[in-house]
Amino acid sequence: MARFGLDRAEQFGGQGGAGFFGLKGRKTAHIRFLYNEISEVEGYAVHEIELGGKKRYVDCLRGEHDGIDKCPLCREGNWVQVKYFVPVYDEDLDQVFTWDRGKAFGRRLEKLFSKYAAEEPLCATSFAVTKETNDEGATYLSIKADYNDGTELDELPEYTAPVYGKLVLEKTAEEMEEYLEYGDYFGEDAC
Ligand SMILES: [Zn+2]
Repeated sequence: MARFGLDRAEQFGGQGGAGFFGLKGRKTAHIRFLYNEISEVEGYAVHEIELGGKKRYVDCLRGEHDGIDKCPLCREGNWVQVKYFVPVYDEDLDQVFTWDRGKAFGRRLEKLFSKYAAEEPLCATSFAVTKETNDEGATYLSIKADYNDGTELDELPEYTAPVYGKLVLEKTAEEMEEYLEYGDYFGEDAC
């Protein structure tokens, strides 16, 4: 399984959180990161493929010291991406979501937490996520701490979306070979 803590990320090139977080037309959202401490943040090394007309992530089969042949998708040149599936509670919508973020977000979370939420639990701090426009006209998200009210994890809605099987598909090398050969298909047990 290609899963690792934040400190090792550099070494790799709806309901209960089933839905994905986004501003969706809002300028600002107030959120809490559903973590006690930074060590709970986990990155995933995945491949992005198309399955049934949809983009899906598949777990990369390579461990840190494995060669490229260990994972058929790597071998065929499908780029490995680092993903963070960040559990957040959207206070404005009163809903738990998964925030699908890329590699750079790991470092950003580290900085945010060390600056604003040094006192655990991390979920005690409410953050404002705002869509901003820079001088060049490009939009970006600013994330700023609002306040810390000491809220604990068990006082917030539970995040229950499983990463493996739901957000990231786990496939064997044989199933990947089949996908590569026939496309859009993972053996008999296609999902
Ligand atoms: Zn791979």
